[in-house]
Amino acid sequence: MAPTSASPPTSHSVQVLSRPVTFQFALDPNAQHRILLAKCAGARRYTVNHHLARVKANLEARSTERDVLSESGDPCEVPTPSLSWAAFSFINEFNAWKNGESEDSPVNEDGTRGLAWCHDLPGDVFECASVDAARALENFSASRRGKRTGAPDGFPRFQAKGKVMPSFRLRNRATSGQAPSSQSIRFSDPSHLRLPRFGPVKLFGPTRKVRRMIDAGRFHVYSATLTQRAGRWTVSLTGVAAELHQAERSRTNRHAVPVGVDRGIISLCVCADANGVPFESFEGVKTLKQAQASLKAANQALARTTPRSQGRQRARARLAKTHRKVANTRRHLVHQASRALVDRAQVLVIEDLNVAGMVRNRHLAKSISDAAMGELSRQILYKARWHGVEVRVVDRYFPSSKTCSGCGEVRNDLDLSTRTYSCGACGLVIDRDLNAAINLARWRPKESSAVTLVVPTRVLLLSTA
Ligand SMILES: [Zn+2]
Repeated sequence: MAPTSASPPTSHSVQVLSRPVTFQFALDPNAQHRILLAKCAGARRYTVNHHLARVKANLEARSTERDVLSESGDPCEVPTPSLSWAAFSFINEFNAWKNGESEDSPVNEDGTRGLAWCHDLPGDVFECASVDAARALENFSASRRGKRTGAPDGFPRFQAKGKVMPSFRLRNRATSGQAPSSQSIRFSDPSHLRLPRFGPVKLFGPTRKVRRMIDAGRFHVYSATLTQRAGRWTVSLTGVAAELHQAERSRTNRHAVPVGVDRGIISLCVCADANGVPFESFEGVKTLKQAQASLKAANQALARTTPRSQGRQRARARLAKTHRKVANTRRHLVHQASRALVDRAQVLVIEDLNVAGMVRNRHLAKSISDAAMGELSRQILYKARWHGVEVRVVDRYFPSSKTCSGCGEVRNDLDLSTRTYSCGACGLVIDRDLNAAINLARWRPKESSAVTLVVPTRVLLLSTA
């Protein structure tokens, strides 16, 4: 868990760790690990449901009592006390309950009390699940009090097997100043990650970078989250890293003129600088379209199977695998584009697109999800902060597409299907996205509002797909 103190932690090599980073790897678990992984994910669901059921019963009991009391006109207090929803109360309550120390602990066939199966699993699974349940309830309660923006959060959903993604979290039982070799989550060799109760688990992919950062005291792992997506287990190591080297943060060979980034539907993004010079463009992430045929085949194969048959399981796995491939390719391309932009430009200007609103437009949804628009700006924002690049976020009502980059004339009759901008005033004919990118690059923040440099609070390398 992240320390609550205001000053950032320091590592064993006295590096200040202030940059939240997540590394993700695919796992290659053996048969024993697979069983343990499934058990841990089940234990997490069990724990969350335990807390939700207790709170729900308590709320209902109090509500009934309140109704009865108000009918009888008795101003007495409700007899059932309210439950504490704090994470530490949940942890303490569940520990006592599962260890057979509380009054309502389950009784086993042999007369012993407590959960017999919980001793084979890392205790952290239960504690982290209790923290998650407390957080979900806190969001629910804040939303009810009007303290949260966005759509109202209902009572947290019960975690049904097969409906929620199998996942659980383990904390690294170590302080950031502790030597890496004595931490509970650590690399035992280049291809194995040691986890509590699991022992070394094999990983896919190169781990050299993260291992070197840990050994040099430039990265400290707070927790490992294990998740099963489309049949494959992955581990996300979340923690804090040292800032990038000063030479990287103040590179002088970057393009000094502001670069506008127009995230498009045909291309992933088209870029140009304020002088009207095309900067760099990245082809559209058309992976979904390309995979459309195989997705269709997989969907049809699934539709032909009998419910609850082995064939249906296989067909469902095949469909999930196709979706996973699409998401992985998309994420890879977006990472490449965002990194290239941050490497080559000193000032980036992006539009604050209402991506969630646009995806709700049924006709555009598929192309927009495919173009990974929201993910691109998220990555540009956090990478820019790491590399010392300035990002200006233009408000979404700025007419970047409708303005002529030649004379400043604004056309109000431009629809999305028009791919070429032609100006009636000065006769300029230019690619629509390039025109928008030039206008973005020339955008200046208003006198009243300072330059917007948005620092993302959540930094994850996960795709939003
Ligand atoms: Zn013009």
